[in-house]
Amino acid sequence: MSSLPDTTHDPHRQSWVASANTLDTDFPIQNLPFGVFQRHQSQPRIGVAIGKHIVDLSICIQHNILDDLPELVKAACLATNLNQLMALGQPAIKTLRHQLSQLLEISTTPPEQQILVPMADVKMLLPVQIGNYTDFYASINHATNVGKLFRPDQPLLSNYKHIPIAYHGRASSIVVSDTPIYRPQGQQHPAASEKLPGFGPSQRLDYEGEVGLFIGQGNPLGQPIAIDHAEDHLFGLCLVNDWSARDIQAWEYQPLGPFLGKSFATSLSPWVVTLDALVPFRCPSFERPVDDPQPLPYLKMADDLTGIKLTVEVWLRSAQMLQENIPPIHLSQASFAQLYWTAAQMITHHTSNGCNLQPGDLLASGTISGTTSDTWGSLLEITHQGKKPIQLPTGEQRFFLADGDEISLRGYCEAPGYKKIGFGECRGQVLSAVTK
Ligand code: CA
Repeated sequence: MSSLPDTTHDPHRQSWVASANTLDTDFPIQNLPFGVFQRHQSQPRIGVAIGKHIVDLSICIQHNILDDLPELVKAACLATNLNQLMALGQPAIKTLRHQLSQLLEISTTPPEQQILVPMADVKMLLPVQIGNYTDFYASINHATNVGKLFRPDQPLLSNYKHIPIAYHGRASSIVVSDTPIYRPQGQQHPAASEKLPGFGPSQRLDYEGEVGLFIGQGNPLGQPIAIDHAEDHLFGLCLVNDWSARDIQAWEYQPLGPFLGKSFATSLSPWVVTLDALVPFRCPSFERPVDDPQPLPYLKMADDLTGIKLTVEVWLRSAQMLQENIPPIHLSQASFAQLYWTAAQMITHHTSNGCNLQPGDLLASGTISGTTSDTWGSLLEITHQGKKPIQLPTGEQRFFLADGDEISLRGYCEAPGYKKIGFGECRGQVLSAVTK
């Protein structure tokens, strides 16, 4: 069940960190997302974003600044990734978040010890050691758009409205925002005049704008997670770009699904927004048309507010735009609340066969698309499978991504009466393929 907003969500609450009180910040005191940073090649540390700064949790613990915490929580704050914190479960994270909110609140005297690090001075790292990665296909609009390209008569397969579809992805090639993405090489469908498949750099490199769900406490092997407890196992959310090579994917995907067309890279935003920070932005999930089947009992939720009002935007900047100092162009924006399957349903379905989820596992939503072309979350959809180009302000055209292109995802939550919170950016620039 979702909880009620409390003092940490109070829209009037301000911080003594001035940059957290500006209108345009992603990281007001109401947010407090967790990440891992590195300063001057030193040991990675866990931090919490506040305005243009990061609270160094190691410094806080070492100087007894967040002292009223269980020893297990303190130990987890000193780790070099978020896995230990995630494993502690939501009540521990909620306590830590409340103490951080109190520490940073404007009427609190800032500690003598410097606990803040400027974001500009650090490198953000992958926040989690990700053991397993599963990518869902939860947007019915995306599934329909893609289905139409391949099967105009039957865009949605008959299982879609009954079962959350997913594939097991690759964890080792998940990278943090700003990591360059090498164009993948691979086998491609034989050209019209050829008998044999081709091999070479992908000519149809695409992005997919998605939301990532980080698992907190896991479940023992053989013990499914009931739908009413599914969100207890969710630590928080981030942005995901599931880079996709459409030509490699098209040739390899039958009969076992995506493989090398996806596994070359997946980018994540560095900050994980906790489920606790998202409380004011809970909303009803996608309303199924009356003719649609009801979810089977194990996927049926009692709670009304199972959706999250989270908007994901996609921006593109070519190398030439970067060189000429032209800002990125907005490609699309779509809402996480429009997904056919909710976060809880994805978690419960994933464990319904007894599969064990572990702290730090990543589930991604699948491309999030709405119903109109300005809400489509991939170039496959926007350019109608490479048939209708996008015009860039430089006069360039794009059917798929060119070397030097930079894709940036941004995400935010807003609701009347609450302070808007942001997810930061998930960015990646395409580099030419390494062909030797
Ligand atoms: Ca995907």
